[in-house]
Amino acid sequence: MIDVLVIGAGLAGLQCARVLARGGRTVQVVEASDDIGGRVRTDVLDGFRCDRGFQLVNPAYPDAKSQLDLRALDLRAFGRGIAVRRADGLAELGLDPKSLMGALRTPYADVRQLTAFARWIAPALGSVPRLLTTPDATLAESFDAAGFHGTLRDEVFEPFLAGVLLETQGATSSRFARLLIRSFALGTPALPAQGMSAIPLQLAARLPRPVELDTPVTGLAREGDHWVAQTPAGERAATTVVVATDPVSVGALAPVPVPAMKGVITWWFSTDVAPTDSRYLAVDARPDAGPVVNTAVMSNVAPDYAPAGQHLVQASAVLPEGADCPPVEVVRVRRPPRHRVHPGCLGLRPTHGRGGPRVLPDAHSQGIVTYGALPARLPETLTVVPDPAAGKVRTTSGTS
Ligand SMILES: Cc1cc2nc3c(=O)[nH]c(=O)nc-3n(C[C@H](O)[C@H](O)[C@H](O)COP(=O)(O)OP(=O)(O)OC[C@H]3O[C@@H](n4cnc5c(N)ncnc54)[C@H](O)[C@@H]3O)c2cc1C
Repeated sequence: MIDVLVIGAGLAGLQCARVLARGGRTVQVVEASDDIGGRVRTDVLDGFRCDRGFQLVNPAYPDAKSQLDLRALDLRAFGRGIAVRRADGLAELGLDPKSLMGALRTPYADVRQLTAFARWIAPALGSVPRLLTTPDATLAESFDAAGFHGTLRDEVFEPFLAGVLLETQGATSSRFARLLIRSFALGTPALPAQGMSAIPLQLAARLPRPVELDTPVTGLAREGDHWVAQTPAGERAATTVVVATDPVSVGALAPVPVPAMKGVITWWFSTDVAPTDSRYLAVDARPDAGPVVNTAVMSNVAPDYAPAGQHLVQASAVLPEGADCPPVEVVRVRRPPRHRVHPGCLGLRPTHGRGGPRVLPDAHSQGIVTYGALPARLPETLTVVPDPAAGKVRTTSGTS
């Protein structure tokens, strides 16, 4: 019998298995779907690398630095800054020394707003443990308390954070938002050259046993001094079980509450002509903007995301609160041979046809839709649920 059965081959399950194997335990990972990665997967379609929803990796995340071989991921950096689509054109807020002068000429270089922002971010400038002991509030409350108002907040930070936190009400923990902004200040977000799936592949490559795919665990039972997991392929016995599924599936296997989920939908567009050569993430600050919260020309950042001579553009929209968050899937719609898209393609609206979301058949719509979901509240990284009878179920969920 093995020491540990890990259920779920997302980043949490893979990393957990790696740590346990390093510690000398025999570990087997079982995964319900046909590949590893969970929410971090990349589909290669006609040579385009489409991650399952727009994602990026920030090399400044402490766990990314300590647990991943970032060099082997061959990271391709986004532009250090952000582009803001305004009614009067595109404002680029570059943070690297070369672009800083340009950024200072934008309407956002306003001393009063910058001072208020500095007040807001100040608690994040010290150590992370210190930040985590500061009193928490919602993001909106913390902006208000710092006196952070005006266009820099409304047109840059709120749209940017909406795309990261997947909510537009500023209801997220201010501590968490400060941690995020801190990471974005310390590191430049990037894409692995071959797609986000390079991350789970790297984690899995270091496992002594291959992940068992297409093996959903349908039930868990305690038998004497060990656990038995039921799967369509038979039973799997282990001394300890780690449930590392997504936050929704975990409810079927362990007595933990299922959180509300937030959704995001990403449209992928292919084009022969890049709408811009910018490597910035672009947000839309126009008052009538929506539903798209951000766009990026992925192939400008990581050229291998598109075949030679073509480009891949992403546009992501936050799903309205309470909207259905169906499981991740990829929907292909027609792709005309030649067309042009631009970051202003913000009028598209998702419709929920049978079988999943669809892009309205706009004359220029094309490509691939992906969608995924995040917990409405970030769960604890690791929840240990004691079993009243004997033994333990260890449950990990959410971010890893
Ligand atoms: C669109 C999108 C964008 C994101 N962007 C970013 C980003 O830019 N940066 C960032 O750091 N994070 C991002 N995240 C969050 C990040 O992807 C997740 O926090 C992380 O991948 C969660 O990993 P996990 O292992 O906890 O869960 P999951 O990735 O959900 O993995 C759980 C696994 O368990 C499997 N499973 C479920 N039930 C069973 C069962 N009964 N039996 C066996 N297996 C089962 C599932 O198939 C899945 O493979 C994003 C997420 C999404 C959806």
